[in-house]
Amino acid sequence: MKIHEYQAKELFRQYAVPVPDGAAAGSVEEAVAIAGRLGYPAVVKAQIHAGGRGKGGGVKLVRSENEAKGAAATILGMTLITHQTGPEGKVVRKLLVEAGQNIAEELYLSLLVDRETASIVIVACREGGMDIEEVAARSPEKIIKVRVNPLAGLQSYHLRELAFGLGLAGNAMKSLAGLVKNLYRLFVDNDCSLVEINPLILTPEEILIALDAKVDLDSNALFRHPALLAYRDLNEEDPLEVEASKFNLNYINLDGNVGNIVNGAGLAMATMDIIKQAGAQPANFMDVGGGATAEMVENGLRLILKDDKVKAVLINIFGGILRCDVFAEGVVNAAKAIGITVPIVVRMEGTNVDEGKRILTASGMNLTSAVDLRDAAAKIAAAVA
Ligand code: GDP
Ligand code: MN
Repeated sequence: MKIHEYQAKELFRQYAVPVPDGAAAGSVEEAVAIAGRLGYPAVVKAQIHAGGRGKGGGVKLVRSENEAKGAAATILGMTLITHQTGPEGKVVRKLLVEAGQNIAEELYLSLLVDRETASIVIVACREGGMDIEEVAARSPEKIIKVRVNPLAGLQSYHLRELAFGLGLAGNAMKSLAGLVKNLYRLFVDNDCSLVEINPLILTPEEILIALDAKVDLDSNALFRHPALLAYRDLNEEDPLEVEASKFNLNYINLDGNVGNIVNGAGLAMATMDIIKQAGAQPANFMDVGGGATAEMVENGLRLILKDDKVKAVLINIFGGILRCDVFAEGVVNAAKAIGITVPIVVRMEGTNVDEGKRILTASGMNLTSAVDLRDAAAKIAAAVA
């Protein structure tokens, strides 16, 4: 789960990771009041679940009440387009107003889970700021990576390795050690998958402050953190994906026009591959789960048909826990209840498959049966051609 910068900074404060003074605002008046309290210069920042806001015009330094009012009015409600939002952009519904900082240098720091080495890796770079991707591409040797064994935890030698790598000494080194220790605790305590600070600024007093904050939480661990659930912002999520999550369906919206309903994530991946091979494009990924019920298939079908770009639906089910005859009855009932207007191709295999096929044929509905995956792919590609 992604959270906003102002929420990430609330977490940072709880763990004594230094951040600028500031507060979130939902209106221009509120933003101006916060800036007035902080003093000028202040910074007005768009709060969306995407980076690259600075370059997209979503971060403005303001030096007076008039400028604060102007920046807040421009940014609040705007559709902000950055390299991470896609061309449709994201509507800004909240601002973060902060005290302007004196920047001597912009660094980069992040913590993430590295599956390959089963460790928490700390990534740092002396040249942070808005062009970190460019630095990584042009001079990868400038990116420092320190791996921490999660069972042994963070050790002082990790901190020294980081400080030497970054070329920090004295106060800056002390500041880094304290910050990384606290950030590591935050990361583990909250089951984060990513914490990124870009830029991490060095002030003229040699103190490090997190000017930006990005925190991604492992959704599978959220049940352990009820307080963090309050950070979820449904405005930032795909509405169909939000609805699917209510029915326990794993649903991801994609760009093509073939709707897919499949039981099991592996089977869903294979289904997307094979329909692409046949020349069709998936409109979504939907895994109704290995233990799906007929009702879940009906909910899935209903949801997929709300998506205007879907021109045909492929249902691919392996009948194990869910028997094919029960599933077929579910599909027929769902199709009748929903009133389907697009072609549907059904491929099923497994327990009671013959009885399932008999039910589909006897229904007299416009359902095409496929004998196997390849046949299903060819039939669905023909349906949308
Ligand atoms: P992002 O573009 O979405 O990653 O947003 P950031 O929070 O990183 O802000 C983008 C840029 O705005 C930073 O790299 C800074 O250069 C600049 N910026 C943000 N806050 C301040 C500030 O307090 N003072 C100054 N001078 N620049 C700031
Ligand atoms: Mn940033």
